[in-house]
Amino acid sequence: MRIKDILSFLCCPDDRSSLKWYPDYLSCPECGRQYPVLGDDFVELLPVAMHPQNGVNLSYPDLYKKDFRQKFTWMEGAAAWGRCDLAHASWAAKRLKQVEFTKKLLLRTPVICDVSAGAGTYTFELAKEFQLVIHCDLSVENLNDVYQRKNKMAVNNLILIRCDYFKLPFFNTLPQLICTDTLIRGQCHEKAVLASLTAALAKGGHALVDFHNWWHNPLRRMGLMRNNFSDNTSYTRKAAEKILSDSGIASWRFYPFIQEQLAEQYQILKKIIPPARLMYGFTKQ
Ligand SMILES: [Zn+2]
Repeated sequence: MRIKDILSFLCCPDDRSSLKWYPDYLSCPECGRQYPVLGDDFVELLPVAMHPQNGVNLSYPDLYKKDFRQKFTWMEGAAAWGRCDLAHASWAAKRLKQVEFTKKLLLRTPVICDVSAGAGTYTFELAKEFQLVIHCDLSVENLNDVYQRKNKMAVNNLILIRCDYFKLPFFNTLPQLICTDTLIRGQCHEKAVLASLTAALAKGGHALVDFHNWWHNPLRRMGLMRNNFSDNTSYTRKAAEKILSDSGIASWRFYPFIQEQLAEQYQILKKIIPPARLMYGFTKQ
C-alpha cells in the first residue's frame, strides 16, 4: 500500500484542496505547497502554522512547539515514548488491555486511521485486522521508530503520515478513526481536536476517543483520597460529555474502561470503581 493509493483520502491541511501526486512530493494546486514524500508509504503533511490551542497541562505546549518545528530527519535506533516492549510490564499490561478492549468496539471498515498514534501500540494491532491502517503523528522520533519497526516486521498495510492533529490532512474522507491518550490537555484543546477529528471523518464515519480519569489509584477515582491533579485535564463522565456536546457531537456511545486487572473474587469492584478511561464512540451525521 502506497501514498499514491490513498491520495483520494488526503487533502492539503491548510486549505483542504485535493493533492497531486509526484514521486518525491504531493503538491497543492491551491496554495502551491509541496509536501515531501519520505517513502512509498510515508509522507509529511504539516500545516504552515502551529495551532494556538496547544493545551494547558504540564510541559505539553512546549513539547508541541518543539515537535512542530523539528525538521524531519532519519534517526537510526529511534525509540518512541511509551513503547510497550520497552516499558514496565504492569504499565504495558494496562495499555495492551485497553487495545484489546478498543478493538472489540471498532467496525470492520477497510480503512482505519490512528490519530496521535505515538509508539504504534494500537497501529500494529490494528494492522493485523484491517486492510489499511493510517498512522498519524507529529513526532519525528516516534515516526522514525514506527517506520523502522514496520519495515523490520514487513507490515505492508500501514501508511505513516507526519501531521498535526489540529489540522489533519483529511476532509470528509475517513470511514473510521481512533484517537486515544490525547484528550488530556484542557477543554479548549479537547474541543479543537474533536473539531478536527469530526472534519476528517466521512459522513457516516465513526470515531472512537477516550478521556482520561487520570488517578491511577482507584481510591482517588472514588473520591476517597485527595485529588492530586490540579490542571483540569482529568475528567468525570459529566465533564467529558459536556465537551462532546459543546463540540457539536449530538450523540455518542459510552464505554467505560477499567484498567485494573481484577482477580475473579474482586470482579464486583467493577461496579463501583470509576473507569480510568472514559471511551466514547460517535458517528458523523
Ligand atoms: Zn494548499
